[in-house]
This record gives sequence, C-alpha cells and structure tokens, in this order.
Amino acid sequence: MKRIDLRSDTVTLPTPAMRAAMANAELGDDVFGEDPTVNRLEAMAAERMGKDAALFVASGTMANLVALLTHCGRGDEVIVGDKAHTFVNEVGGMAALGGIHPRTVPNPPDGTLALDDIVGAIRGDNVHWPRTRLVALENTHNACNGAPLSPAYHQAVYDLAHARGIRVHTDGARIFNAAIALGVSPREFARYSDSLSFCLSKGLSAPVGSLLCGSREFIAAARRHRKMVGGGMRQAGVLAAAGIVALETMIDRLADDHANAKRLAEGLADIPGVALDPARIKTNIVFFDLTGALTAPQLAECLARDGVLIGAMGERRMRAVTHYGIERADIETALGLVKRALV
Ligand SMILES: *Cc1c(COP(=O)(O)O)cnc(C)c1O
Repeated sequence: MKRIDLRSDTVTLPTPAMRAAMANAELGDDVFGEDPTVNRLEAMAAERMGKDAALFVASGTMANLVALLTHCGRGDEVIVGDKAHTFVNEVGGMAALGGIHPRTVPNPPDGTLALDDIVGAIRGDNVHWPRTRLVALENTHNACNGAPLSPAYHQAVYDLAHARGIRVHTDGARIFNAAIALGVSPREFARYSDSLSFCLSKGLSAPVGSLLCGSREFIAAARRHRKMVGGGMRQAGVLAAAGIVALETMIDRLADDHANAKRLAEGLADIPGVALDPARIKTNIVFFDLTGALTAPQLAECLARDGVLIGAMGERRMRAVTHYGIERADIETALGLVKRALV
C-alpha cells in the first residue's frame, strides 16, 4: 500500500539528483563566507528574485524572524494579517526574541490585507504609540487556501507603505507557487518587497532551507542577525546543493501540484458532507470543512488506516496539500476513501 501523505508539502523527500548533488558538494566554512555551494545558491536566489543579495537560512521561520529583526527594533510595530504564518505559527518569535509588536488586521479569504485596513493601522507620531516600521505580506497565503497575491496588489501595498516611510516584507514561503499560478516571474513580487523569503523545503522538495532576499545592505545586516539566532551553519553546502537542484529542476512541475489540488477540490465538493468552494483553489493547498457527524480528527484517523494522511486543523476543518510524489491516481484514491467514510 502506497502512503499518500497530503498533510503538507514539507513531507517531500529530496530527489535522486539532490542526493547526488549533496554527496558531491564542494564545501567550506559558510560563517567565513567560504562555502562555494552556499555562495552559489545565494547568488542564484538573488538573481531569480532580481535582488542584490540573498542569505541561506535553516527554515522559513528563521528567514522571517531574521527579516523582522533586521527591519524592526524593540517596540517597533509590524502590520500583519491575523491568519499570517508569521503571526500564528512562528511561536511569537518576533515578540519573544525581537521585542517587535504585531498589529494584526484581518485576512479576507483572498489572503490580502485590505489597503484601507493597512492605512488605518499605520500609527501617527504620538508619544504613546509604537512606531509602525513594516507591513508583512504572505504569498501564497497558506491559511487562505494557498491564495496567490497578484503583483498589482503587492505594488499597491508597497506604494502606500513607502509613501509613509514604511517597509514591506513578503513571506514568500511558496512564492514559486504564486508565480506559476499567475504566470509571472517571481521578480514581480520581489520588486515590491524590501525583503522576501522563500522555502526550498516545501513544494521544491529540498530537505532543508530557506532564502532571504533583499538589498546588499539589508542582507549584510541580516547576516549578523542570522548569526545571533544561531543560524551560522559552517559546511552548509551539503544542504545548499539540494537547494540548487530544487531551483533548477523543481519549479515548473508545481503546475502539476496545482492541477492535482484543483481535481481534489472539485472531487471533494461533490461529496455530501464536505463544504468548500473549488474556485478558491489556485495553488496546492485545499482546506475543507465537514458538515456531517464525523469530526475532522475522526475522518483523519479513518483515512490513515488506509494510508491516506490529511491534516485535521480543528474540529471540522481539514487541510490537504499536494506536492512532488503525489500523482493524479493518488488523488482519486483519496477521494474514494473520503467518500466511503462519509457517505
Ligand atoms: C511553512 C511556512 C513558513 C515556515 O517555514 P518552516 O521552514 O516550516 O519554518 C513560513 N511561512 C509560510 C507561509 C509557511 O507556509
């Protein structure tokens, strides 16, 4: 029985080409700036994003933390969506480690922040108030069905923030999914972001690592913060080697994940007792709700007995994520089992 693991695209294993590249990687001490493979990956990432420079870090969480530490000082405020990964799922690191004050505004289902809400959240000059330093966007938006944010939206936020002396960070953990879904270069998002982070270890299937991209000065300052949080990784080229293969070979195939997610969403929508709007599914993340007697943990347990893993995200809410290694036939298998369990 093949295990069909739809819990996350983080479960992807490195490809054979990645393992070969890791075994043969040329290495040095990256804290000295002497790991040629890390240097190559950072140069590639900067080039892909149209930024001056990039920094290889251990995880998406570290990329966002280092970005926030670099943009904001203690007591500064960041405007962030109430469903943002940075706000919900990063252990409060910005506050705990950076003394940074999060100011949430609601994320509507399209994963944006309403421009009026951003403007309304920006602080004036008042001795009582923290200073607004940063707006943080998320593209694609994980908790909003992997919604891709358009370059036009990024530009609108960037323009209104910059007009007020505020910078913009994009948590682009799945930025290549957004680029593929909208048929644009990732540079179109990075252009309107003072900094942008993306993950190698989700749909791109590398085992470890994220990149933080920005200006030369920003990345130089971020490098000190990476060291501060314990992220100086020495012969990290063994990891970066897989990241290079990820960037070279794993981006275009994300379209298959999107097609599989679409099929999954359409199939689920046809099953009585499942509620979702397949029109919302534009990348590789499918949230759905159960409307019958079975709870999400119960359905997850029932599916797991047949080798299909889907995440229970609450009493009634579930999340399935498509990725490398999940084929169309696996989607049909999963749909058949959900139907059998619910109908
Ligand atoms: C996964 C994820 C991260 C964090 O990445 P880790 O490597 O798991 O720390 C950040 N932002 C978003 C939107 C994510 O989905």
